[in-house]
Amino acid sequence: MQQKPSNLHVDGRRFWDSLMEMARIGATPKGGCNRQTLTDLDKDGRELFRSWVEAVGCTVEVDEMGNMFARRPGRRDDLPPVVIGSHLDTQPTGGKFDGVAGVLCGLEVLRTLHDAGYETDHPVMVVNWTNEEGSRFSPAMLSSGVWAGAFTKDWAYGLKDRDGKTFGEELARIGFKGDKPCSPADWKCHFELHIEQGPILEAENKQIGVVTGVQGIRWLDVTITGKESHAGSTPMPRRKDALVAASKVVIALDEIARRHAPSAVATVGEIKIAKPSRNVIPGEVTFTVDLRHPETQVVDAMEQELRAAVADACQRDSLPFVVDRLWDSPPVSFHPDCIAAVEDAAQEAGYAHRRIVSGPGHDSAYTARHVPTSMIFIPCKDGLSHNEEESAEPDDLTAGAEVMLRAVLRMAQAG
Ligand SMILES: [Zn+2]
Repeated sequence: MQQKPSNLHVDGRRFWDSLMEMARIGATPKGGCNRQTLTDLDKDGRELFRSWVEAVGCTVEVDEMGNMFARRPGRRDDLPPVVIGSHLDTQPTGGKFDGVAGVLCGLEVLRTLHDAGYETDHPVMVVNWTNEEGSRFSPAMLSSGVWAGAFTKDWAYGLKDRDGKTFGEELARIGFKGDKPCSPADWKCHFELHIEQGPILEAENKQIGVVTGVQGIRWLDVTITGKESHAGSTPMPRRKDALVAASKVVIALDEIARRHAPSAVATVGEIKIAKPSRNVIPGEVTFTVDLRHPETQVVDAMEQELRAAVADACQRDSLPFVVDRLWDSPPVSFHPDCIAAVEDAAQEAGYAHRRIVSGPGHDSAYTARHVPTSMIFIPCKDGLSHNEEESAEPDDLTAGAEVMLRAVLRMAQAG
């Protein structure tokens, strides 16, 4: 007779030890990790992961994009698998937890089921998504994006790194160009554990973030055209100063985001004067705008207000301007059943939790296009990520894995 699901618990110590062992591959002097996608180190990390999942009786398949699928059979193997996924690649100055915690949390679930000899009705699968980070081959979330149909495989193969090596060549070189088609399959659901990469859970003393979706992101470029003229001899009323107008927009944008508090954020991250000179009035200024909010209507409203602010700022001196929308990543809402599975698991296990919307993008944003999806966030120190000092507490990691185990057990039950 098999154990009751409520008697199953993850081994937090084993989870932590595996994280530390994986972190030795590409370890940096400051305690971080540099295990960029499709490098020899990535290959080593993948081989280690493969050996770990094979040791608990899983079979591993690799698809055309190098995504790895470790599958544990179910009692009814014809049923669609319950999937846990994240990524083992890191930023050049990455930490030990971003992505890795999600994949190894899946491993910990597999080990827990294996040790107990527990049979789930549905198969359970753990995925290592290739090139989530996008630092070596841009864009980020490349392979879950191909899987979801956002990009084509051939386009992805042709992407080049700084040395001119292509994604396709490097994938084949490390031996992870598989045959399995990279396209959506019939999955019951997809769960992902991830560090929050923000300060909210830590500040509120919550161990678990029940992630309800990923916010919308919109990128625009603004160009304002003034007129270069002498800084000493051009009287104020005759000036056409593009930087003064741009500055008004920067201030206005800050106010726009605050008007849509608490969830809106807006940033001017780059600003360029075309021909900068100490004693010349700036003639042309270009700057970037990054708008984010969990709801499309609000992102739309922020864009409209931005456009009005640009027009307003350029009015006094009759400056021509152009506002270009470059990229729009619509907000993602996760599936109510998956959100409930995570929320109920956190509640039952007695962890302090709250609902949260992800600021950064994740592979789950793509899986959500095809299969019911949600995520589990755990706190990270000072909200710091993409940094060698990224840090998470063993207790929080254990809590996250325990919530994952319970959510998976619930979804892996037939009927
Ligand atoms: Zn990540």
